[in-house]
Amino acid sequence: MDRVVIVGAGQAGLSVAASLRADGFAGAITLIGDEPGLPYQRPPLSKAFMKDGDATRLALKPESFFALADVAYRPDAIVAAIDPAAAVAVLASGERVGFDHLVLATGARNQRPPVPGLDLAGVHELRGLADATRLRAAMADARRAVVIGGGFIGLEFAAVAAEAGLAVTVVEAADRLMARAVTPALSARFLDFHRASGVDVRLSALGRGITGGGRAQGVELADGTTLPADLVLVATGVRPNTELAEAAGLAVANGIVVDEHLRTADPRIFAIGDCANFPLGGIATRLESVQAATDHARHVARAIMGADQPPYGALPWFWSDQGPLKLQIAGLSAGFDDTAALTDATGAVDTVLAYRGDRLIAVETVNQPGRHMAARKLLSRPEPVSRAAVEAAGHDLRTLLAG
Ligand SMILES: Cc1cc2nc3c(=O)[nH]c(=O)nc-3n(C[C@H](O)[C@H](O)[C@H](O)COP(=O)(O)OP(=O)(O)OC[C@H]3O[C@@H](n4cnc5c(N)ncnc54)[C@H](O)[C@@H]3O)c2cc1C
Repeated sequence: MDRVVIVGAGQAGLSVAASLRADGFAGAITLIGDEPGLPYQRPPLSKAFMKDGDATRLALKPESFFALADVAYRPDAIVAAIDPAAAVAVLASGERVGFDHLVLATGARNQRPPVPGLDLAGVHELRGLADATRLRAAMADARRAVVIGGGFIGLEFAAVAAEAGLAVTVVEAADRLMARAVTPALSARFLDFHRASGVDVRLSALGRGITGGGRAQGVELADGTTLPADLVLVATGVRPNTELAEAAGLAVANGIVVDEHLRTADPRIFAIGDCANFPLGGIATRLESVQAATDHARHVARAIMGADQPPYGALPWFWSDQGPLKLQIAGLSAGFDDTAALTDATGAVDTVLAYRGDRLIAVETVNQPGRHMAARKLLSRPEPVSRAAVEAAGHDLRTLLAG
């Protein structure tokens, strides 16, 4: 009988188990994760959960799923090593679990910037439910929060904290918000929103250290300014968990390197989700998104079942909720050379079309779910969408889709 062992019980790992069973896989499935409890969704940690603290809505599947789907779920279990020659995953307890197919879905962990003070009380990070629970409790007693990092997670938290009445400062090293992920017009739209909500956003500002004796009292910037704080969130990005793969002799470069079917050089071993570096349209790519985790999982489930399928090529898409603004992104804007921005009735930018040459490569929207869905459908088509076609349709993506 075929045995699949999945390392990491997050969004990607759980999705492989579910996809295998949905596709009729009859072999044994073991899902091993080092966190306690049921596998859960991370996106609400910085959104709904940070507001309401309701952990019951986070589970990806109810407890009954594991018995019904015959998935051996092993929470609180660390995979300490992989022995490809023996086809065995070795747990920290010493237990050895044999596999015919191994899926590495080990996710990522937060970067720790090289600044003093990270271990002071009152300094937080946000990746898992335990972090979110601590941060939420700290928020209830805090008056002044400084968020280091103006990316999705830092800004989502900043919006919740400002809404809860804290004085919030965001410190961002780049000259615009979410610079890695969105175009300048979108960064500007969100800068306006956060400033209008009372958040003090400092751009081109480098946190040099966290001050305080025992407890965080402030964040010192490279220009000498100290921002007082009784709560500090460090949200400066993540790094993929690649150590297991590397120790097993698999290639690692900003993630576990896999081919167009998400396979490592060892055909029995796959890597998916946040930990995987995979070719997308020929470009080495690592994504941190629910979309990538679940689409990777579906592809790998079919590969394990021997399906003859085209190379992995699902369109990336993302979202971020910041206060009343829902940002949705279809496609990757990296490498754009021109953009066109559309505005709503108030004159605020609500859509940015990103072009590379004559080709539409990404669409960013704010509170425009219909436009986002149309963009996803258009950009998923095999044929490129030309700028001329978008302009001929008066920038109306739904018209273009229908035409
Ligand atoms: C606060 C927050 C908000 C987010 N918001 C969004 C959003 O709005 N939209 C979006 O698309 N994405 C969002 N993301 C990103 C999204 O949650 C991730 O891309 C997704 O969880 C990746 O799934 P994964 O399974 O690859 O990794 P993870 O969910 O990180 O799961 C990996 C699991 O493997 C475990 N593990 C690692 N090594 C071992 C080992 N050796 N043995 C056993 N277990 C191991 C880890 O502890 C972890 O539980 C957010 C992330 C965070 C943290």
